[in-house]
Amino acid sequence: MIPLTLNQLANITAGTLFSVDNIDATTLVLSDVSTDSRRVGDNCLFIALKGERFDAHDFVSSVVDAGVAALLVERELAVDCPQVIVKDSRLAMGQLAAWVRQQSQAKVVGLTGSSGKTSVKEMTASILSERGKTLYTAGNLNNDIGVPLTLFRLTHEYDYAVIEMGANHPHEIAYTTNIVKPQTALVNNLFAAHLAGFGSPDGVARAKGEIYQGLPDEGTAIVNLDSCSTQWAFQPRQTVWYYSLTAQAKADFYPSNIQIKQLTTNFTLHTPVGHVAITLPLPGVHNIANVLAASALAISVGATLEDIRNGLATTQAVPGRLYPVQLSENKVVLDDTYNANDGSMIAAINVLAKMPGYRILVSGDMGELGDYAQECHQRVGAAAKDAGLDKVLSVGTLSEIISKSSECGEHFTFKRDLLTRLIPLIQQNDVVSILVKGSRSSAMEDVVNALKECF
Ligand code: ATP
Ligand code: UDP
Ligand code: MG
Repeated sequence: MIPLTLNQLANITAGTLFSVDNIDATTLVLSDVSTDSRRVGDNCLFIALKGERFDAHDFVSSVVDAGVAALLVERELAVDCPQVIVKDSRLAMGQLAAWVRQQSQAKVVGLTGSSGKTSVKEMTASILSERGKTLYTAGNLNNDIGVPLTLFRLTHEYDYAVIEMGANHPHEIAYTTNIVKPQTALVNNLFAAHLAGFGSPDGVARAKGEIYQGLPDEGTAIVNLDSCSTQWAFQPRQTVWYYSLTAQAKADFYPSNIQIKQLTTNFTLHTPVGHVAITLPLPGVHNIANVLAASALAISVGATLEDIRNGLATTQAVPGRLYPVQLSENKVVLDDTYNANDGSMIAAINVLAKMPGYRILVSGDMGELGDYAQECHQRVGAAAKDAGLDKVLSVGTLSEIISKSSECGEHFTFKRDLLTRLIPLIQQNDVVSILVKGSRSSAMEDVVNALKECF
């Protein structure tokens, strides 16, 4: 972390400082942060957060024994360690992260959207790493805790930062954007994700659009012409770059000469600074859209076409996101079990449709869809039917709608029964492609793990 003194911490968070004998708050330096008592480093500030299961204030004596330098807490604690007391340690954590970001010279890009954030983040980081030292969100740490934790990793050495921001309710993106202060911002797309928290598709567009409202006067907005909202407005001095898979005439970034192989994709990428041939070691048309977004983010902060070509050549599938698992020579599972909504489910079905052999969709339930649950599951089933899949096996409750509307489906309540049907199907066919997908709550990785053990 970019270091600061205990005194600065108290000022930044407007907290009350309780120091201890022999400690000078103007010289005590903090250069690391932890929110987890099981992981504390040198010169470390421990921030005590209240979660669903634990109140980290209960672990303060153990972190003091472990040698933390100071505490950021919501009440004074009887321990021998300097403390800054604030009303809300979560908000104070955000204030500290905003300060750290302001000290950094790094060019910062921020992205949100319903699907593909982590994929675009990985691609953008891969491109920018060709040019300089790049910090990027680890895994999926994209909420009001994860975003500050990411920014705390900034040091003066970083040239770029790529920050993923997620939301399941309004104002969440406004909050994290205000901390991240990106100079370029992207809403990757709008699908029916987390509808239960946003109320309606318009609510999703409004909430994601908060990232554009947080742009500086001369910032750059990257907009997906294929999935955007007329509600969004931009300032006169802001640059707005549009990308599209199909609307070439209106887009600043678009593809041509698309060639989709089983697990790789080739195409020509067109940008405002020229065009370049891309070989992407990932399947799926939706990943071409993700490349358009990542390239626009990277070019906006100085990447060249060569950086894009080289950075994307080495980008890798993210585990759980269309991640190929080879069961045997001609039998492959696309492990897409990380999460699902109707948009990402249909995108994945379209990838499966182009795979060889007997094609099976193994689907769990899609959660958090509120009143739209029925409609979304129906849409997915219809997409499986249109794609001409050979078999749909569903497990759970809502997913029964998927297998019914696919017209080639069978439904199971328990995964072990589904596996009893799936395993012989895989054995009976010489060439098989299987897509396994469902919401996080469906834990469809159980199916992938069982198949790995079996083959
Ligand atoms: P989360 O909200 O959980 O952080 P995310 O937005 O980071 O998700 P990824 O983890 O990149 O998204 O991908 C999640 C799922 O969406 C995967 O199944 C992936 O294959 C699919 N996906 C990725 N990009 C797109 C896209 N542009 N359009 C539709 N689906 C996509
Ligand atoms: N925590 C901790 N030590 C522990 C368990 C939890 O410091 O042994 C912290 C944890 O890192 C988090 C806070 O206590 O900052 C709340 O934990 P909880 O698991 O309830 O959080 P959740 O992730 O569920 O919101
Ligand atoms: Mg993500």
